[in-house]
Amino acid sequence: MKSVLITGANRGIGLAFATAYLQRGWKVYAACRDMGRVGELLELGGDVEVVPLDVTSMEEIEALAGMLKGKPLDVLINNAAVHGPRDATGTFGNIDPEAWMEVFRVNTIGPVKVTEALLPNVLMGGDRKLVFISSMAGSISMRGSQPHHRTGGPYIYRTSKAALNAAVKAIGYDLRQKGVSVVTLHPGWVKTETGGWDAPGEPSDSVAAMMPLIDAATPEGNGVFLNVDGSVIGW
Ligand code: NDP
Repeated sequence: MKSVLITGANRGIGLAFATAYLQRGWKVYAACRDMGRVGELLELGGDVEVVPLDVTSMEEIEALAGMLKGKPLDVLINNAAVHGPRDATGTFGNIDPEAWMEVFRVNTIGPVKVTEALLPNVLMGGDRKLVFISSMAGSISMRGSQPHHRTGGPYIYRTSKAALNAAVKAIGYDLRQKGVSVVTLHPGWVKTETGGWDAPGEPSDSVAAMMPLIDAATPEGNGVFLNVDGSVIGW
């Protein structure tokens, strides 16, 4: 049976990934930071194992790696993230440095440390796929390219995803020789707490579009940032 571990699996896009992989008959490790908020996951049925993981906690990352020692993972999906401040403290002129550090801990450092810790499991898996749910908001080259990209916007969120992208591109080169596919995806604008409830897309549709991209990924494709429709986004 194939297996996937998803961070931030209790709601939003993570929950939609868990649902979709369970429907495929996979074993799903649903990593959640708050074990009191996993009700929807437990109702899904299928082979789902809820595991505790706050991606900012090195102790919890280590404990998870210990719990999974010797177990292969076909796919690791680094999905968990926070948007950070939506008020003036997230934009130039008033940036709150503590909030900036916290968002970096979740969105940038967390996924890389989770990947370091679980790489042995992914190397044991048949598919050997590392997935990073990033955001077009982190694309440096897209700044100014379209009217709605001509504002600075949320500096904290943007820079956390831009830094994640830089790390992930490097990981793609480092792991290509080991046969690991590294997939960096923008999920589209989707109705969740992070995306906002006015967003046009549904998490299930976003996941249905991203799964074939994950299926098709090969190590030769590492180093590319993909939109949910399969088109390439400039870094
Ligand atoms: P949600 O806000 O719905 O979900 C975020 C998830 O991340 C929750 O499960 C949350 O857990 C978890 N999380 C937050 N902090 C931590 C932490 N420290 N440790 C572990 N888990 C944590 O967001 P989405 O589903 O929309 O976001 C999924 C991904 O998609 C993110 O990477 C986001 O940046 C990206 N994205 C989303 C877009 C959109 O339009 N929705 C657009 C572009 C990118 P908890 O319930 O405990 O808070």
